[in-house]
Amino acid sequence: MRDSELTHNPELDMEYPCEICGNYIDDCICPECPICGGVGDPNCYKKHGLIVSEEQKKSLAKRKKLDEEERKEDNKYWESLLQDISGGVQK
Ligand SMILES: [Zn+2]
Ligand SMILES: [Zn+2]
Repeated sequence: MRDSELTHNPELDMEYPCEICGNYIDDCICPECPICGGVGDPNCYKKHGLIVSEEQKKSLAKRKKLDEEERKEDNKYWESLLQDISGGVQK
């Protein structure tokens, strides 16, 4: 048995964008919360007095735009796929 298999939790490896600045963990520009030490935690901005900076807002807006574009691309793909399928069925 290998130790690495015991300690490796794939769920912890999942990358998700920061809720505050929209960057992935490695690129997160959020400051550390002086109260709890959390980074990019929305609660810190609601409860611990942290303020979202212009840079963070811009960064998040950029992420949202990218997500939006990705979703559009996805939709286009599925739409064309569905059209292909229905087109093939129609007589
Ligand atoms: Zn962040
Ligand atoms: Zn905090």
